[in-house]
Amino acid sequence: MKLNTNTKSLAKVQAHLVAECFNKLFIGGKFVDPIDGEKFPTYYPATSELLHEFPRGKTNDVEAAISAAEAAWAEGTWAGMAAAKRAEIVFNMAQGIEDNVEMLAEIEAADVGKPFRQAAMTLGGAAGEGKYWCSLGAALDAEQDAPVNSGGGEGGVPPAEWDVVYRRDPIGVIGLISAWNYPMNVAFRKVAPALVAGNCSILKPSEIAGLSCMFLGKLAQDADIPAGVFSVVTGDRDAGAALASAPSVSMISFTGSSLTGSKIMVACAPKLSQVALELGGKSALVVFDDTDLDQAVETTMKGFLTNGGQICTAHTRLVVQDGLKAPLLDKLKEQIEKLPFCNDPITEKDRGDRAWEAGMTDVVQPVVCESQHKKILGFLDEAKAAGVEVLTGGSVPDAATVGNSGGYFIQPTVLINVARDADVWQKEVFGPVLSVRSFSTEQEAVDEANSTAFGLASTVMSSDPAKAMRVANRIRAGAVYATSTGEGILAEHPAVSRGGFGCSGVGRELGIGGLHEYTELKTVNYTGFSLADAKKQRTG
Ligand code: NAD
Repeated sequence: MKLNTNTKSLAKVQAHLVAECFNKLFIGGKFVDPIDGEKFPTYYPATSELLHEFPRGKTNDVEAAISAAEAAWAEGTWAGMAAAKRAEIVFNMAQGIEDNVEMLAEIEAADVGKPFRQAAMTLGGAAGEGKYWCSLGAALDAEQDAPVNSGGGEGGVPPAEWDVVYRRDPIGVIGLISAWNYPMNVAFRKVAPALVAGNCSILKPSEIAGLSCMFLGKLAQDADIPAGVFSVVTGDRDAGAALASAPSVSMISFTGSSLTGSKIMVACAPKLSQVALELGGKSALVVFDDTDLDQAVETTMKGFLTNGGQICTAHTRLVVQDGLKAPLLDKLKEQIEKLPFCNDPITEKDRGDRAWEAGMTDVVQPVVCESQHKKILGFLDEAKAAGVEVLTGGSVPDAATVGNSGGYFIQPTVLINVARDADVWQKEVFGPVLSVRSFSTEQEAVDEANSTAFGLASTVMSSDPAKAMRVANRIRAGAVYATSTGEGILAEHPAVSRGGFGCSGVGRELGIGGLHEYTELKTVNYTGFSLADAKKQRTG
């Protein structure tokens, strides 16, 4: 039952990938070959066939991009422009994503293995979020020279004779290192605010799946972003490490695993440069027994199966109250075992019989690559060897069930009565694997939810709003959903800041605070003359 991927779906994506931007690095405003001329292969997760070979940027290429950024920073045009003007320019990049959603979604479907419709929806989100960042340009301008205090002199406020103001300066040359699970969303969430804030930045997308991000070089060129202000260097961890440790790189904004995040912190420590780290998670879905059964099942599936479980906020720990445990697990098993496998994510749009947006879990997609596939199966083997009970799944589906062979598929898996110290409870598996524990009292629910080192997101489900609020307020996570229906879990809005507690991160992204992450707060204290005098002098 091997899917013939020499057929249209893969060939159609490969036709997009002949464009220059998918074959060269973008440095100093130009598309260039990597200095050493090396390439990386990337494979279609549904069949493991070769999708494309893209340039392998190495330390020397990263250094070239840094030099270009340093020159642009020293020249000062970008940083000296009003933020609203920069935002107008960056808006064209966001519009470019929107105008090319179909092509980019096909590329992400082929690169990540996610169903086309999901890719198209999230890419539309990346464009919309980019426009949100641009809408903040004027707000950033309005913050420049904002008086710290004009009242004066009493109770802990600055003296009246000081004319002291706040400014938000760009940081300088900064590195943006991104993950593969939502390639464009993760990358553009950094690129857009970094540019609107006035920085000169270098993007290093993930080598596992980062093809769509390479299109940002073309969009920057089309938008006339000045040379060196934005570069894209594809490469592996060595390229990322070179960027993080470079002396003139004053900030790293990183999205990826907690382990890499801590390495980046170490690399930035000697030069005391800024870090913003969006890291892994092990989110809990706490379900009280007063929750509607069907909604609990739907929410559980959505929580751990969206994007094949490859989402930082995936709710991969189910904490269910004793009274609901048996019916919930019965129904969950029944529903999961009905899910079809998505054996050609590129053409998934042609299967118009399901409303993806409603359920988000109507098909099982492959995981992104061979190494992730092996890693997830390693977790499952270890759990099984330790005697963990498998409710459903636990292995690789056969080719006949998938309707295809060679792909990186894993059965959606539910592990029950998992020990608290088990790896599948404590560590991020980053695949379609759910671990289940139960509780009796509210206190136990909180203890279970807080029983890992991560703290990215969590959800509490109950029909009792006061109880949901009590528990939500005690959960240690950057984003908590309190809900009777499950509606909105995993959802993000650009105006709502988020980030991680503990091993899930440092700093916050989104919202005005997310833009501020790419600035340095500065005070200027005018004495002897006022800010108004200085402004007159400047303009007169
Ligand atoms: P990863 O840490 O393996 O790699 C991320 C990026 O870091 C890649 O571009 C990689 O090349 C680079 N890198 C690797 N080693 C490096 C080093 N020593 N120095 C500098 N750069 C280095 O993560 P991944 O597998 O690409 O992504 C999955 C992880 O990302 C998961 O843990 C997931 O939870 C997390 N994630 C978090 C968020 C969030 O917003 N919190 C969003 C998406 C993904």
